Amino acid sequence: MIKVDSDLFIIFIEYEAFRDIVIHTAQFAHFDMKVKNWKEVYGFLAGYIDEDTQWVHITAAYPITHGTHYGVEFKKQHYVLSAYLNLMLAENEEFFVGWYHSHPGLDLFLSETDIINHLAYQIVNPRAIALVFDHTKIISKKHPLSIFQLDNPQYGISSTYHEVEYYIGGIKKDEEIERIRDIYYEIEAEVIAKKIPPIEKEVRTKVEKWKKKTKTKLPEKTLYKKKKRKKRGIKQKLEPLFK
Ligand SMILES: [Zn+2]
Repeated sequence: MIKVDSDLFIIFIEYEAFRDIVIHTAQFAHFDMKVKNWKEVYGFLAGYIDEDTQWVHITAAYPITHGTHYGVEFKKQHYVLSAYLNLMLAENEEFFVGWYHSHPGLDLFLSETDIINHLAYQIVNPRAIALVFDHTKIISKKHPLSIFQLDNPQYGISSTYHEVEYYIGGIKKDEEIERIRDIYYEIEAEVIAKKIPPIEKEVRTKVEKWKKKTKTKLPEKTLYKKKKRKKRGIKQKLEPLFK
């Protein structure tokens, strides 16, 4: 049997999933907003992995939270929300294939914190991906997103990383920069005109509806335990969710 490296997998992002990432980003950082008010956003990428065709298919993006200009902190309600989302996705045999976050004006890379965060995903799922979006790239006519994977998750925080090839639904690769620029400005205008409702709230509403419909109730107290003794890294905090 041929051993396949995870980076041979190609990522396919449904257009709607991509659009939701751009909306989420623009609701917390856009060109008409003062740079000092820009905030990073964080969400999950849902989908499935086709081992035969070697495609990672991202069917939806779930905007979860936003933070400061330089980072995002996960709080109790986000862990609880993620646990329910996980169950909701499992109904369709889907799961979190990775996560996305924005780097407004910060460039496309994985910071040390991002690597720690991503370890929690990639240790559990070797094909897990981290998508980073920086809307300011469109000014310089560059790709505003990159998708990363760690080279050697077993090296922990010292692991280096590489970019993974991706395609967005309905967008030709050689027209991608122009198309994304048009999509971005269109969405930005709608965000400024407040035509798009807060997207994080939409996710919470969707999950609440699903909880009611399916009568799902998780033992929420056990989902997130506050660490009293010593501060632990994001890796330990996120890990239980993705097992
Ligand atoms: Zn980051």
